[in-house]
Amino acid sequence: MKRFAMKKGKRAVSPGITKSISKKLARADQRTLWHPFTQMEEWLASPPLIIERGKGTWLWDIEGNRYLDGFSSVWVNLHGHRKKELDQAIKNQLKKIAHSTFLGLSNVPAVLLASRLIEIAPKGLTRVFYSDNGATAVEIAIKMAHQFWTHKGGKYGGKTKIIALHNAYHGDTLGAMSIGGIPLFQDAFRPLYFATYKAPSPYCYRCPVGLEFPFCKIACAAPIEEILAAHHSEISAVVLEPGFQAAGGMIPLPPGYLSRVRKLTLKYDVLLILDEVATGFGRTGKMFASEHESVSPDLMALAKGLTGGYLPLAATLATEEIFNAFLGPYESFKTFFHGHSYTGNQLGCAVALENLDIFEKEKVLEKLQPKIDLMKTLLAGFQDLSSVGDIRQVGFVGIIEMVENKTTRTPFPLKEQRGLRVCLEARKLGLLIRPLGNILVLIPPLSTTRGELKQMFAILRKSIETVFP
Ligand code: PMP
Repeated sequence: MKRFAMKKGKRAVSPGITKSISKKLARADQRTLWHPFTQMEEWLASPPLIIERGKGTWLWDIEGNRYLDGFSSVWVNLHGHRKKELDQAIKNQLKKIAHSTFLGLSNVPAVLLASRLIEIAPKGLTRVFYSDNGATAVEIAIKMAHQFWTHKGGKYGGKTKIIALHNAYHGDTLGAMSIGGIPLFQDAFRPLYFATYKAPSPYCYRCPVGLEFPFCKIACAAPIEEILAAHHSEISAVVLEPGFQAAGGMIPLPPGYLSRVRKLTLKYDVLLILDEVATGFGRTGKMFASEHESVSPDLMALAKGLTGGYLPLAATLATEEIFNAFLGPYESFKTFFHGHSYTGNQLGCAVALENLDIFEKEKVLEKLQPKIDLMKTLLAGFQDLSSVGDIRQVGFVGIIEMVENKTTRTPFPLKEQRGLRVCLEARKLGLLIRPLGNILVLIPPLSTTRGELKQMFAILRKSIETVFP
């Protein structure tokens, strides 16, 4: 570590970091690391952006430059960085213990957090199973659904398949990828997936059945009913991202879609798994996206915002009926044989508890509503740009789909990396966001001020105008 220590008398560009240390860090990154979802050949071609600290909505790199965190550090941050109460919750927990196993033992913050989650969760979800990331939380739900039907047996014993949507994204483990619907991410691993039924994505801007909402009467959900009618005896669950499909293109579910699918699952004896990993904890303006349609699923996956963006923690919530199906004497082997080393981690659970306290104490959801309205106004200001095909918003997520031709809605070829180019331009102006192909997304921390929100949109507009003059 000596190599990175600051020498006396050297001028710092950022606290504790001189120009030469920052160069060494950049070289070490490029020599030793492999970054996620990154073409490393491109990464190696220019110095990496290395974050050194954060405060509120802002991040600072090792050169001392500051940036607005326009994507909440990939959807996780809710109340800003270095939130005093969250910092303190971790410090307080550290005085007791950082981690002890949850396999065969319990711990105080994990018990308290489970009760709090059940209080705020959609009705009927009464059991909490911890893990540590979104993909795993979803996989656990799939495994629970599968084993639930196995335990029921009889006419239910053959329910082994899942219905998922095109453009779905549930994470990068093989189980989560099996139910994903993004060919770019998935094609390389196809032989490794389990079999699923895939239904159309309810993508109104590019309607899969060529109709228009609301006259369509949500015809895109009809294939789900067709699959269920023909194959319900072999289907364990339907998996959905409620609110919007996130990484698959920021696609809002049309109003009524979720409750319609819920009715179908009840009609055909199939479980509903909701993946609230991206939408949970206030992102859509309510605590959970399913609340917009008063839908209670059988299983729900949570992660990302669960700790306010501080530590990796996830939870899969289940109904009592599902839980009960796993009960029996040991030798019945109905046990849910699943568990991770860091399951129920005390630091994670302690900070998650404080995260939920902040929602209450600071009336986060109430204060968010006017900022959602402001976002709507700011987004509307982009309509005049010739490259802007569609503007969408769900809660505190602003979405701009760029197109080559507004009339035909032809997308720019992916290889042109237009979205990425806009994001790189924005970075120069002090805003960090990540593109989804041609789709630009603003996901500010819920604590973002009105001024910061306006600043984010001003930078975004300038960046689009530079890349699409
Ligand atoms: N589900 C959804 C809807 C997501 O958006 C993501 C991550 N972007 C995941 C699951 C996977 O979460 P993680 O990255 O924590 O595994």
